[in-house]
Amino acid sequence: MPRQTQFGLMSHAELVTEHETQTANYAKLKTEKLTLDITRGKPSPEQLDLSQELLELPGTADYRDANGTDVRNYGGLHGLPELRAIFGELLGIPVSNLLAGNNASLEIMHDLLVFAMLHGTADSVRRWADEPALKFLCPVPGYDRHFAITESLGFEMIPIPMRGDGPDTHLIAELAASDPSIKGLWAVPNYSNPTGITFSETVTRELVSMPTAAPDFRLFWDNAYAVHPLTDSAEPVLDVLGMAEAAGHPNRPFVLASTSKITFAGAGVSFFGSSTANVEWYLKHLGKKTIGPDKVNQLRHLRFFKDADGVRAHMQKHRAILEPKFKLVLRILEDRLGASKVASWTEPKGGYFISLDVLEGTASRVVALAKAAGIALTPAGSSYPYGKDPEDKNIRIAPSFPSEGELEKAMDGLATCVLLAASEKLLG
Ligand code: PLP
Repeated sequence: MPRQTQFGLMSHAELVTEHETQTANYAKLKTEKLTLDITRGKPSPEQLDLSQELLELPGTADYRDANGTDVRNYGGLHGLPELRAIFGELLGIPVSNLLAGNNASLEIMHDLLVFAMLHGTADSVRRWADEPALKFLCPVPGYDRHFAITESLGFEMIPIPMRGDGPDTHLIAELAASDPSIKGLWAVPNYSNPTGITFSETVTRELVSMPTAAPDFRLFWDNAYAVHPLTDSAEPVLDVLGMAEAAGHPNRPFVLASTSKITFAGAGVSFFGSSTANVEWYLKHLGKKTIGPDKVNQLRHLRFFKDADGVRAHMQKHRAILEPKFKLVLRILEDRLGASKVASWTEPKGGYFISLDVLEGTASRVVALAKAAGIALTPAGSSYPYGKDPEDKNIRIAPSFPSEGELEKAMDGLATCVLLAASEKLLG
C-alpha cells in the first residue's frame, strides 16, 4: 500500500515518520544560511527599470501642460487635467471627479479620515472625533496599512470574512444598518491585497445600495490594482461612483488609486475620485495643507504614458516579469504542499499577492521557523486588524521583489516550514 500523503489521514506512526523527515529537511535548510525576503509587495528593480525614462522627463525645455501652465510653479490643486483624463479613462471616472496628487494614495486615505475626524464629511451631523464611538469594517485577510490607519485614529475594527466574490455583504449590510458608529469599509475591489479576489458586480451593487445607520458611511474604494492583470482577461473596473449615484448614495465611495505599482513605488502619482460634493469637501481641506501637488512629476508621467493605452501596454511589461514569479510560487505550493492537504492558497488573476492558509494554529510557528532559516515572511496575523489572526493560519506571500532563483529557494524553504509545523501540531 502506498504511504499516506494526506496528513489528516495519517496514522500516528506515519505522522512520526513525516515529522522526522521534515525535521531533517529543516535542519538541511538551515545549513544553507539563506537571507531571503518575501515580505512586502515591492516592485523588483527590473520592474522599476521599465519606467527609467521618467528620470529624464519632462526635460529642461518641457515644463508646461496643454493649457500652458508652468508646472514648476505653485497651484493646480486638482492636478494636471490631461493626466487625470488618462486615469479617468482607466478608472471609469469623469475628469471633473478625479484629482491627481502626490506620490502616495495611502496619504490621501489618511487625510480623508483625518479630515472626517476633525471636520466631519459632507454628510456628517458632527465631526467624527465627537462621535461617542467609531467603528470600521475590515475585510480579512486585508491590507495591514489600511488597518494601521484606522487603529491609530481609534476606530474599533470589525473583521469581515472575504468570499470568492468580495467581502460578506450579508454581514456588512446587517452591521451597517443597525450601528451608526460604523463609519466605513476598507475595500480593494480589484485583485485584493492579499487574496487577489475581485469584487463582483453584485457585491459592488449591494455595497453602494445597502441602507446604513450612519448617514456619512464611506466605502474606502482603494483600487490600487485596477490595471494589474496577470492573465489575458483583465477584470473590469466597475463604475462604483455611477452605481452609487444610481442607488441614491452618491457620496458613499471614496475611490483611490496610484501609479506606485505602475511606475515608481516611491515616486508615482496618486488619484482620488468621488462625487462632486466629496471632491469639493476634500479640496476645501486639502487647500489648507498644500498650495498644489508635484505637477512636474505629473507632467513626466503624462509624457511617459501619452494615453490610457500607454498605461495598458506598460502593464503588460510588468505582467511579463510578474507572471512567471506567480506561476513559480503556485507550482511549488502544489508540488510541495498539494498532497498533504495542510494548506490552501489563492490563485490570483492579478495584483501583487498570494494568500496562503496553513494548518490552523501554525502560521506564527511557520513564520518563526522560516525566520530562523533566513527567510523573512510578513508576520503572521499582519493581514488582520490589530495584527491578530484568530485562527493563526494566514500568511501573505509577495512574489514580486525577489529574483526567480531567490523566490524558488524561499518558497521551497517555506513549504518545509509549513510541513514541519503541521506535523508538530498534529502530533500534539
Ligand atoms: N493600497 C493597497 C491595497 C496596497 O496594497 C498598497 C501597497 O502595497 C497601497 C495602497 C499603497 O499605495 P500608495 O503607494 O499609493 O500609497
